[in-house]
Amino acid sequence: MRFGTKVIHAGIEPDASTGAIMTPIFQTSTYVQEAIGVNKGFEYARTKNPTRSVLEKNLAALENGKFGVCFSSGMAAVDAVMKLMSNGDEVISTNDLYGGSYRTFVKIFERFGMKFHFVPMNGLEQIEAKINKNTKMLWLETPTNPMLNIIDIKAICSLAKAHNIMVCVDNTFASPYLQNPLDLGADIVVHSATKYIGGHSDVIHGAVICKDEEIAEQLYFLQKSTGAVPGPQDCFLVLRGIKTLHLRMERACQNARQIAEFLKGNDKIQRVFYPGFAEHPGHAIAKAQMRDFGGMLSFTLKEDTLQGASKVMENTRLFSLAESLGGVESLIGHPPTMTHGSIPRTDRLAVGMTDSLIRLSVGIEDVKDLIDDLDRAFRNHRA
Ligand SMILES: *Cc1c(COP(=O)(O)O)cnc(C)c1O
Repeated sequence: MRFGTKVIHAGIEPDASTGAIMTPIFQTSTYVQEAIGVNKGFEYARTKNPTRSVLEKNLAALENGKFGVCFSSGMAAVDAVMKLMSNGDEVISTNDLYGGSYRTFVKIFERFGMKFHFVPMNGLEQIEAKINKNTKMLWLETPTNPMLNIIDIKAICSLAKAHNIMVCVDNTFASPYLQNPLDLGADIVVHSATKYIGGHSDVIHGAVICKDEEIAEQLYFLQKSTGAVPGPQDCFLVLRGIKTLHLRMERACQNARQIAEFLKGNDKIQRVFYPGFAEHPGHAIAKAQMRDFGGMLSFTLKEDTLQGASKVMENTRLFSLAESLGGVESLIGHPPTMTHGSIPRTDRLAVGMTDSLIRLSVGIEDVKDLIDDLDRAFRNHRA
């Protein structure tokens, strides 16, 4: 099956008892057993729920994996992957990382005796320098947030394999439509399905996908043991969102490309960070490992101040000021004060995140209206 067919059909069968074409919401905590040890494969809903099982199969297929394991949020999925590790293990992570993951690694897992190294992953030297006998995992995101840097997944996986280290890719920003890290050699893929996979800003959900049966068994064990499981209604919403993932992504990518071009030619703009530009340092790698360049982009203003940024963000009407990304509606955000507010200013500036940096999650509206909205906001007035 090709991607646009998988989103509708992979792992999805009409309900056996009624023929319902849509996966039912099995809103139950337990299942009646015929006799001791005799059941239909379901005993208690923390361990297994039929709505969740369908979603897990579907997600596994979308990432070309064998096993999907669902969690109540993207962070619960990240947490489960880290619990594959033990006291004394070390993880090397990209330094340009989702803030919630950074917080969990440093403030929670380091207390339990793990060690994390944060390095730029645009080359291999800095990763190699941190590898030692305790290194168990490399953790990366690409494109990165909010600077849209591109990391070469294949190159990093070859390095990891040579040292017998696992690779986990947080594929939230790209979505399985754009990029499939398991095909490039990664062992584990993590998603915040809250973003593109769910796609409608109406559910918090996470997933882990892998090919290896031993890793999958450990993840299912963690899922039932720690209990951060999604409810069946949330699984239904994610399944429903997935059915249009390919169409939404296609449009979001088209819109983002046109907006990036508009920004590049605008006299209020200083820099645009968008991997679809030929001059972007990661363009060739993005072209090789992604199907398109995504719906996310960032830019800085010539008036490179917080005030400059707030004037723009207060004057958009269609772009709503909000955290999150990947929904059908366009969002605008200010990483220096929002998602990356806890990073010291000098560290921010060192990676190009100046005071006016604005991030867009481009939705699937008519792009002409989106461009008009930005154009008006740059002239600092609301229509
Ligand atoms: C949002 C996000 C997460 C966390 O997911 P939640 O569903 O909010 O818990 C993890 N990684 C990335 C890249 C994200 O954007």
